[in-house]
Amino acid sequence: MPDLVALSIASEIFPLVKTGGLADIAGALPLALAQENVAVSTLVPGYPAVLDALAGAEPVAEFADLLGGPARILRGKAGELDLFALNAPHLYLRPGGPYIGADGIDHPDNAQRFAALSQAGAALSQGLAANFTPDIVHGHDWQAGLTAAYLRFSGKRAPPFVFTIHNLAFQGVFRAGLLAPLGLPATSFVTGGLEFYDQISFLKAGINFSDAITTVSPTYAREILQPDQGMSFDGILRAREEVLYGIRNGIDTQVWNPAADPLIAKNFSNRKLAARAENTHALRRKTGLAEIDGALLLGVVSRLSSQKGLDLVLECLPLFEPLNLQLVLLGAGDPELEEAFAEAAAAAPERIAAHFGYSEGLAHLIQAGAHVLLAPSRFEPCGLTQLCALRYGAVPLTSRVGGFADTIIDANDMALSAGCATGLQFTPVAADALAAALRKAAGIFANPALWRQIQLNGMKSDVGWTQPARTYANLFRKIAA
Ligand code: ADP
Repeated sequence: MPDLVALSIASEIFPLVKTGGLADIAGALPLALAQENVAVSTLVPGYPAVLDALAGAEPVAEFADLLGGPARILRGKAGELDLFALNAPHLYLRPGGPYIGADGIDHPDNAQRFAALSQAGAALSQGLAANFTPDIVHGHDWQAGLTAAYLRFSGKRAPPFVFTIHNLAFQGVFRAGLLAPLGLPATSFVTGGLEFYDQISFLKAGINFSDAITTVSPTYAREILQPDQGMSFDGILRAREEVLYGIRNGIDTQVWNPAADPLIAKNFSNRKLAARAENTHALRRKTGLAEIDGALLLGVVSRLSSQKGLDLVLECLPLFEPLNLQLVLLGAGDPELEEAFAEAAAAAPERIAAHFGYSEGLAHLIQAGAHVLLAPSRFEPCGLTQLCALRYGAVPLTSRVGGFADTIIDANDMALSAGCATGLQFTPVAADALAAALRKAAGIFANPALWRQIQLNGMKSDVGWTQPARTYANLFRKIAA
């Protein structure tokens, strides 16, 4: 029996709507918390995919006018997830993604769209729906940040609010003139509130009006207190340092299980590691890469944005022949990066393949078949792809930032002699440091026994949700008490 009831508020949730890691966490954490006797229900916007999944769900609340139109909250199950869907057609029933329209630009009313989510979240927190009174509210990223402000200024009793920052780069900044239309009091427009350089920031509301703040790895929790990674929020966060916690993310080890994964060419495990090679062949075949003797196959599964540092990979292309490297890249985003990788692939199709768009199937095959999972991020709050890589025997080669620093044991001389390395890391985040790490990877790859040991170490790493969910549950209990 659950001894704690939580309301989670998220703008995306796997498997219904996903643009990045946030969706994975919003989808996986409720199931892991159930094992810790915490019952989580999640409020999500009623995007078309969400309403389809909840077809037949019962309305549990209505708003005559929620920021420009009528809205209802539906409650239903999607798989094992207990969902509240905010059905507000004027805000969410439209083409495009959760944040960006079909035209490639931000929805012009994102402030209203996520303020509405937050208003509905605050109302649910305070007993709007029959038989649902959460002990704790857990908001994810700026899209849920205003929940904390609505609760604070409601004048009513409210459960405690925990705010999780998945990526400080997304700050939900809008013009100050929206304050009153969004139903926020003038008294919230202060330095210790949601005022941010004469504008309003939903992220800042979440930080300043929450009872606890978490972010998704211990190292990132320290990094964001410093000016170079604080993205203008380091001072704001330092003021709340005593309630800031870093809890690493996990991955769903059922979905990501090389021994039973239906999306890969051949299942394998640490006891049957040789079978992994069939996935490498399949990956080369599928992406048109040549079978080159002894070539080290690098894989990338990533959003294409400057955060991910993939421009550094472009700078290292001259190394591909001399070091005998190949690359499969799966990603979507920045058109300039797409074009650069498309050109690189066209110039050397036997060594470089680039697939643009979103593909769960290819993502799994890359993890199962690539020798290295490459992630040269400039900053990385936690990162999920390196966790998948560890589990799939793809050796992660990453920058030493954020969650990468917390989840990978770099193959330095001491780790190699102790036999505990699980990947390769480089610092600073610059092309020459990446080049050095690629050279080192090629050198280790030429020693199959050593490579295999690093793979096996990685496959033993604890990348699941059990530990982090326990930490969240303990934090929730402490704060709810
Ligand atoms: P971020 O949230 O910054 O995008 P993470 O590493 O935390 O980065 O999470 C990214 C998630 O999205 C992972 O589950 C990864 O496998 C997935 N992903 C990213 N790009 C793609 C893509 N093009 N196709 C399929 N999955 C992708």
